[in-house]
Amino acid sequence: MPSLSHIVDNGLCTGCGACTAAIGRPDLAMAMTDQGYLRPAPVELAAAEQRVLEAVCPGVGLQGKASEPGYHPLWGPVVSVATGYATDPAVRYRGSSGGVLTALAIGLVASGEVEFVLTNGAAADDPINNATRAAATRDDLMATAGSRYAPSSPLAAIEPHLAAGRRFAFIGKPCDIAGLARMARRDPRIDAQIPFRLAFFCAGVPSRQGTLAVLQALGVAHEDCASFQYRGDGWPGLARARRHDGSEASMDYNSSWGTILNRHLQFRCKICPDGTGEFADLSCADAWYGKDGYPDFAERDGRSLIVARTARGRALLERALDKGWIATEPLAVGEIARMQPYQVQRKSNAFARIAAVLLARGTRPRFRGMKLFGLALSESKVGQLRNAWGTWRRSRGKTLN
Ligand SMILES: Cc1cc2nc3c(=O)[nH]c(=O)nc-3n(C[C@H](O)[C@H](O)[C@H](O)COP(=O)(O)OP(=O)(O)OC[C@H]3O[C@@H](n4cnc5c(N)ncnc54)[C@H](O)[C@@H]3O)c2cc1C
Repeated sequence: MPSLSHIVDNGLCTGCGACTAAIGRPDLAMAMTDQGYLRPAPVELAAAEQRVLEAVCPGVGLQGKASEPGYHPLWGPVVSVATGYATDPAVRYRGSSGGVLTALAIGLVASGEVEFVLTNGAAADDPINNATRAAATRDDLMATAGSRYAPSSPLAAIEPHLAAGRRFAFIGKPCDIAGLARMARRDPRIDAQIPFRLAFFCAGVPSRQGTLAVLQALGVAHEDCASFQYRGDGWPGLARARRHDGSEASMDYNSSWGTILNRHLQFRCKICPDGTGEFADLSCADAWYGKDGYPDFAERDGRSLIVARTARGRALLERALDKGWIATEPLAVGEIARMQPYQVQRKSNAFARIAAVLLARGTRPRFRGMKLFGLALSESKVGQLRNAWGTWRRSRGKTLN
């Protein structure tokens, strides 16, 4: 049974915070490491706590839904697919893609279906850190709209709301949603009190160092930074830092994500088989338009890709359309690969990468029911070997971050 330090040192921790919430020890909290990732304190666990860890940690293993009808090898459970956007222009403009997640969140709160939505925005004490918020109004939800390409541990914040008997929706990264699903197997309050689990596609979480590197490239000292956003205010929008004196510096998405942040991804994300939120009720992503076979990041009105994964997710989507929260157009499932080529590569190479981790370290996460072997067989052998080699080289460090 892997210990906390085994999980952390072998690069298996996603930073979601499920362990801290489910084990519930005051000395087991998430903290930022020197490398800029959120990790649990390396405390010694009693045998019973260790069993809880094993049951809830999404970093060490996932049981996918490949045996269920409608499971797509690349995209997981698919009930319906569409593109769309928030009909409120302010939400569409503020959101990362088409603002669909924020529009759904605002609608759920306004209609009284939930008391609040657990989301993530900039921390009050440091604009480049994230904080998890119980957002209960349109203003709160607008303040947490937009992607934050930095560590977050939303599951660490969940217990007080469960204990208070509150009913809420949850928005998070695929690994947060997977952790929540694992927690739900042993905690019935989760299914009873969190009726909606909404995810976004995720290419990986950059460290805090990644954001510091963006600030440096922008010529903004961290101590001068009053606010920072990665995207939004357009699609994809600019990474923008505002100084305390009111002046601003910005760079486009291609530069911030494509040349800086994507070089600071945590190790676990590089071997992740679930970049698309397979355990959510509904997942959103960028519905990129293509140019020469690649996504085109030219500024446009925002457009989200929307994948309903459960009957509950589809019913929410239908309600959102009826009530006018969002507008959608149907999309064939085969079109997703054109919008999300990186996620195709990611899941197709996961098997080779995980095998390389096993070779290098004698340990690996266990992912079942996600069609990883079948996808590997459909990929080029040269590509698989290249992926395995790269992962094997990266896996040989004493500790992996
Ligand atoms: C680390 C990261 C990697 C991503 N990788 C991809 C990708 O590979 N492909 C792709 O299409 N899209 C990716 N996105 C998501 C994408 O940028 C959009 O968020 C998504 O399309 C939803 O858009 P929206 O306009 O509906 O969301 P919005 O209406 O803008 O809502 C976004 C929601 O996500 C929450 N959120 C933002 N950052 C975090 C965080 N760090 N942790 C937890 N919750 C957060 C916000 O609180 C908000 O509720 C990534 C986002 C992040 C943060």
